[in-house]
Amino acid sequence: MIPLSIPNFEGNELKYVTDAVGQGWVSTGGAYITQMEEKMAEYVKVPKAVACQSGTAALHLSLMECGVERDDLVIVPTVTFIAAVNPVVYSGAEPVFMDCDDSLCMDPVKLEAFCKEECEMKDSELFHKATGKRVSAIVVVHVFGNMADMESIMDTAARYNLKVVEDATEALGTRYTSGKYEGKFAGTIGDFGAYSYNGNKIITTGGGGMVVAKDQKQLEHIAYKSTQCKDDPLFYVHNEVGYNYRMTNVQAAIGVAQLECLEEFVERKNKNYDLYKSLFEGSDAVELLEFREGTYSNKWFYSLEVKKPGVDMHQLVHDLSDRGIQTRLIWALIHEQKPFEDSITYKIEKADRYSKCILNIPCSTNLSEDDIRTVAETVLDVLK
Ligand SMILES: *Cc1c(COP(=O)(O)O)cnc(C)c1O
Repeated sequence: MIPLSIPNFEGNELKYVTDAVGQGWVSTGGAYITQMEEKMAEYVKVPKAVACQSGTAALHLSLMECGVERDDLVIVPTVTFIAAVNPVVYSGAEPVFMDCDDSLCMDPVKLEAFCKEECEMKDSELFHKATGKRVSAIVVVHVFGNMADMESIMDTAARYNLKVVEDATEALGTRYTSGKYEGKFAGTIGDFGAYSYNGNKIITTGGGGMVVAKDQKQLEHIAYKSTQCKDDPLFYVHNEVGYNYRMTNVQAAIGVAQLECLEEFVERKNKNYDLYKSLFEGSDAVELLEFREGTYSNKWFYSLEVKKPGVDMHQLVHDLSDRGIQTRLIWALIHEQKPFEDSITYKIEKADRYSKCILNIPCSTNLSEDDIRTVAETVLDVLK
């Protein structure tokens, strides 16, 4: 079976974990956590990063620090893994679901239109006219490692005084190579950026996450919130309600080893993508979606658009599985999930279409050239 996406431990993972356990530092203190934070900050070119328990925790901490309050509205995509949306609810706010564009990321034109037409500014805050609720933030997801249109989105956010949380959980390593944000990494453009080291991400710590922020004081506050708000750790003084969201040293030991391989993994993902691209070239049945121009993407997941009419996508996944290839359909739309059935949506059209025709194909960093050829040949054969 060629799996969809599995972790790759070719480096110093076992060595560092053995070291962490040997030293007895297994919990939320230890040198690997500091190292992980420093190396991450260095990699994405920011002054500081704060390690936490998961990408979801990173998003929750970011939204709280944004000042998202109970009964606020937060603009989110409907094409995403649901973990980008749930923290809005943890914060007591409600999501407004936005459509995607052809990059599968949030449609910046519709975002602007929603703010302009459905909302109004009062005392430099944005309010949704139909519900009277304050709109306080946007969660932008860089879907499958593809950079969202941050130039447009940041312009809109500035115009309407909205905070921007970048869900860069799938996009560690993706950066602009030209334009206004040349050299900037996904996650470092908005007010806050969240990364994930879950098992299927480009690098993993088993489970874990990281937060970066524009304002270093706010980032300090996030670190404080993530460790139970200890004002005096010796005598148990806590001046705020905190969370147990800190990464452990064992996770960080794996993470430091994985970070050493990250740039190599990004290269392999790119190389494998190019090979797939050439193998699917000229097919009428499928088309491999591109990544944004003017960026170097981590190409975390490959999206194959099935263009042949009348294909039963569920059957396709089963047929490929029967022939030894694990694939997956793009997520079901979040605004159609039970907890969000009654949420506000804005002109969702493209998301509907893409949710019915995108297949994710094997993309692990340890795929061989033969594996890739087998996947491409089998997909084309099954769709003949
Ligand atoms: C993986 C993922 C998350 C959550 O990360 P965890 O570390 O699993 O909590 C959030 N958003 C998106 C888009 C993801 O793919």
